[in-house]
Amino acid sequence: MALLTKFDPWSSKFCTCPPKLTFNPYTGCDHKCLYCYASSYIPRFFNCRPKKDLISKLRREALRLKGELISISNSSDPYPNVEAEIGLTRQCLLILSRSRCKIQIITKSTLVVRDSDLLKHAQSMVAMTVTTSDDNLSKVLEPGAPPSSERLKAIAKLIDEGIPVSVRVDPIIPYLNEDQQQLIKELASIGVRHITGSTYKVRPDSWQRISLAMPKLAERLRPLYFRMGEKVGKCRYLPMGLRLKLMEDLAALAKMHGLKFAVCREGFTHINNAVCDGSWLIGAGIA
Ligand code: SF4
Repeated sequence: MALLTKFDPWSSKFCTCPPKLTFNPYTGCDHKCLYCYASSYIPRFFNCRPKKDLISKLRREALRLKGELISISNSSDPYPNVEAEIGLTRQCLLILSRSRCKIQIITKSTLVVRDSDLLKHAQSMVAMTVTTSDDNLSKVLEPGAPPSSERLKAIAKLIDEGIPVSVRVDPIIPYLNEDQQQLIKELASIGVRHITGSTYKVRPDSWQRISLAMPKLAERLRPLYFRMGEKVGKCRYLPMGLRLKLMEDLAALAKMHGLKFAVCREGFTHINNAVCDGSWLIGAGIA
């Protein structure tokens, strides 16, 4: 089976990503985010393990690249905690940085800064996920990932090195992190130029984790998702009017601070003023 595959998130009718390839250096992820959707379709997901024969396969497949955009990665974080010891993603970047391709890193780990020497000489960008400016909340939501404040420092370092960074404010969860004024202000001040927004989509296992960790919140969310919301593919979405409002509020904040904005898998493309995944930043230089 090919390692580099066409990015096609379950043929989602709401996906507006440009054509790109994707691969995951690891199966599973040890960031253990409460809201993670990948844990619903990959067994033993939080038991993170390296992909078998990854490097030899990537070496072979990289020979055929002709300048494609490669997104690393979409079903797991390429910088789980174990990456600090084994450096598998770094080895992949070494191979790809010598090939003809553009690199998009999607992560919520500060470890990506370690590889800035490779990224800054490649055509690359980093999409960092930050869901809140509150470290206490990020530790609850994303217990295995570095706290938000550390991610902000990492973003500043990457931008300093000339590597463009977009931020995924994803997911927005009603009653929990809908007010993003502080975060967007901080992101603008460190040189972020693009925000991608998305709301929490319920899958049974992520719902169970959220219900266990925050039972009072779950009680408030239940009617929104299970009575008033809608089923889209295998997920439960918030009611459309509420989703639209949450995304419009975020878009207005981004605009106020001079940042580009786009939604991810929400269907409100009229709000977007840039390519949704921030990949337009590759080659756009640092402002
Ligand atoms: S970082 Fe991404 S893949 Fe890893 S647990 Fe969190 S949401 Fe899932």
